Amino acid sequence: MEVERTFVMLKPSCIQRGFIGEVISRFEKKGLKIIQLKVEKLSREKAEKLYEVHRGKPFYENLINTVAGKTVVLMILEGRKAISVVRKLVGATDPAEAEAGTIRGDLAIELTDNLIHAADSPESYQREHRIFFSEDELETY
Ligand code: ATP
Ligand code: MG
Repeated sequence: MEVERTFVMLKPSCIQRGFIGEVISRFEKKGLKIIQLKVEKLSREKAEKLYEVHRGKPFYENLINTVAGKTVVLMILEGRKAISVVRKLVGATDPAEAEAGTIRGDLAIELTDNLIHAADSPESYQREHRIFFSEDELETY
């Protein structure tokens, strides 16, 4: 897959700490195109849908409580190999292990509250973006 799309969610701590611009700027500088961008108070229902693959894991409740009922930023990004490019820019799941130069490596330290979520495969992108965006919001410009 060459040009593709990915889904990203800036977690509440990213908004609370004033890093919306910093993170979006990194995506823009890389050359990714912002197809959609919205600010939303994340319902518990949508949080549970987004993280349904993690239901039953020991960190699940904590993960849901970190994001549910709080303001997040949701976006669809487009570019060449966007899914793996964005995962590289985001860095390892645990910010304490994430390389310097990555978003988590530079701006986060907590594991559950690791600043940002990014889809990890075309299947995840398909499933996740539909939770937040309707078909008519996917047109390009
Ligand atoms: P994301 O899906 O948010 O982009 P990821 O793909 O790097 O992150 P996943 O394994 O999908 O990591 O975990 C989803 C989220 O669950 C992580 O972003 C993190 O907030 C939390 N998480 C994952 N593993 C742990 C853990 N061992 N302890 C606490 N929280 C965790
Ligand atoms: Mg994941």
